[in-house]
Amino acid sequence: MGRKFFVGGNWKCNGTTEEVKKIVSVLNEGQVPSSDVVEVVVSPPFVFLGLVKSSLRPDFHVAAQNCWVKKGGAFTGEISAEMLVNLDIPWVILGHSERRLILNESNEFVGDKVAYALSQGLKVIACVGETLEQREAGSTMDVVAAQTKAIADRVSSWSNIVLAYEPVWAIGTGKVATPVQAQEVHFELRKWLFANTSPEIAAATRIIYGGSVNGANCKELAAQPDVDGFLVGGASLKPEFIDIIKSAE
Ligand code: PEP
Repeated sequence: MGRKFFVGGNWKCNGTTEEVKKIVSVLNEGQVPSSDVVEVVVSPPFVFLGLVKSSLRPDFHVAAQNCWVKKGGAFTGEISAEMLVNLDIPWVILGHSERRLILNESNEFVGDKVAYALSQGLKVIACVGETLEQREAGSTMDVVAAQTKAIADRVSSWSNIVLAYEPVWAIGTGKVATPVQAQEVHFELRKWLFANTSPEIAAATRIIYGGSVNGANCKELAAQPDVDGFLVGGASLKPEFIDIIKSAE
C-alpha cells in the first residue's frame, strides 16, 4: 500500500501579518511535485489561520497547532475542535513536545485530545518523541511506544492520523537524527502498530520525522523506507521549505 509523502510546516509562535504574507507568497510561487505525490500542510499560529487559509495555494492545506480536549465552553484561552471544523481547518497538530514538556501535557491528555479531534472530523498530526536523557538511558522505544499506546487505546481508526516522530533533542537544536537513527525508530513504531493495532494500520499509517530537518539533510532522510515525510519547524519559515517538499520525489 503506497503511503503518500507528507510535509508539515510548524510555524510555532512566530510571525507578524507582514511576515506571514511573505511566507505564503514564497509557498505560492514554489515549484513542487503534484498533490498526487506529496501532501503539504502548514500550521500558522491560530490568529493567522484565516489569513493563511484564504491566501494559500489550493494544493496546500492548513493545520492548527493545538485544540482543546473536549467540547468548547468555559475554558478561557482555548480553541475547540468544533471551532476549527467550523472554520474549515482540516488538520491539527497534537502532542508536540513543546506542549508535553513546557505545558505538562500527559500521554493520556494527548490521547484524549487526539480522540476528540478525530471524533469532530479533524485530521491529526500526532507527535511522539524522547528526550536526550531518555535516549541515553536506552528507553527511546519504551517512551514512544507509551505515547503511541495512549493514542491507540482511544482511537479505532488511524486513517486520519499522521504520526510524527520528533526526538526532543533534535527539535530546534540543529542536531538532526541520522537517517539510520530515524529509520530505526520509524521501523520500530511501525512494528509496534503492527502488533498492537493491525497489519493494515501499520502498513498505511504515515510516520514522519521532525527535528532540525532542512534543505540539505532532507533527501537522505526521505530515502529511508519508513520515513514517510517530515514535520518541519524552523526551516518551514524559510524558502528552503520548498526544497524539503521536493524531497518527496
Ligand atoms: C518542530 O517543532 O516540530 C520541529 C521539528 O522543529 P525544528 O524543525 O525547528 O527542529
